[in-house]
Amino acid sequence: MSAEIIYGSELAKTIRQEMKEEVKTLRQNGIVPKLVVVLIGDDPASKSYVAGKQKAADFIGIESELIALPSQTTQAELLALIDQLNHNEEVNGILVQLPLPDQINEQSVIEAIHPDKDVDGFHPINIGKMLTQQKTFLPCTPYGILTMLKSKNIELKGKHAVIIGRSHIVGKPVGQLLLNEDATVTYCHSKTKDIETFISMADILIVAVGRAHFVKGDHIKPGAVVIDVGVNRIADGSLTGDVLFDEVKEKAAYLTPVPKGVGPMTITMLMKNTIQAAREAAK
Ligand code: NAP
Repeated sequence: MSAEIIYGSELAKTIRQEMKEEVKTLRQNGIVPKLVVVLIGDDPASKSYVAGKQKAADFIGIESELIALPSQTTQAELLALIDQLNHNEEVNGILVQLPLPDQINEQSVIEAIHPDKDVDGFHPINIGKMLTQQKTFLPCTPYGILTMLKSKNIELKGKHAVIIGRSHIVGKPVGQLLLNEDATVTYCHSKTKDIETFISMADILIVAVGRAHFVKGDHIKPGAVVIDVGVNRIADGSLTGDVLFDEVKEKAAYLTPVPKGVGPMTITMLMKNTIQAAREAAK
């Protein structure tokens, strides 16, 4: 068996094209979605993520503004900026690129963004809405993963989904979204004993650990759906996932690659949330 590869890059292209049409119509009706991205410091990875977000916004027709601040920016300065953006009616989405420098408390920043402009879906109010299955901004990476699974009509109901990783931005929310889809969910993390047993039980395996080739082929249940969220730079300078692709592809039914897998979908769902924010604001 050789897995069908789910290219997030291809799906992202299709969805971005659809959104481009949608934004064209919105603009004709006087609605111009606008995203403000705040970047603090000059971390090369953060700069590259931000550039990817701006490129996607430009393509779709979402107005995007980058506010780049020096790495010495204080928490008070950042909170004052967020307050200003919260009150600016032209701004629909506010994204503060993480991680932040040590002098700034990440959670305070997340909580300062108005929930109606929290297009990352990290605000506790929006997380609470996700848990209680109310309409909200879903966190972009989990939302992207769910969209990839649905694009292949993969049955989730009653399936055993095993999530490796329990971060607030990926592991925990993706498990919750799968639970909302009637999957039975198991979370694994660094303290989980005998993790390979759990991996081998997974109908749907989501790996978000951040360790190159953490999951090998012999762990996988034949026919499993494997979503590789990890992005790891290895010795030769290339990017690779948390899954040993060549081995796992021989056992899985579906597998996502790295790159061209989950990453492009994360950015796409950010755009989707920004359009949703603009629509809600116009009501
Ligand atoms: P994170 O906050 O570092 O969380 C990693 C998780 O993995 C933690 O829950 C940790 O467990 C668990 N873990 C670490 N070592 C483990 C081990 N030996 N066995 C089992 N579990 C272990 O990372 P994250 O932000 O969720 O990101 C995970 C990966 O996804 C990274 O490579 C990141 O770059 C990538 N990522 C990609 C996208 C995308 O759009 N493609 C988006 C976000 C993240 P504990 O909780 O016990 O410490």
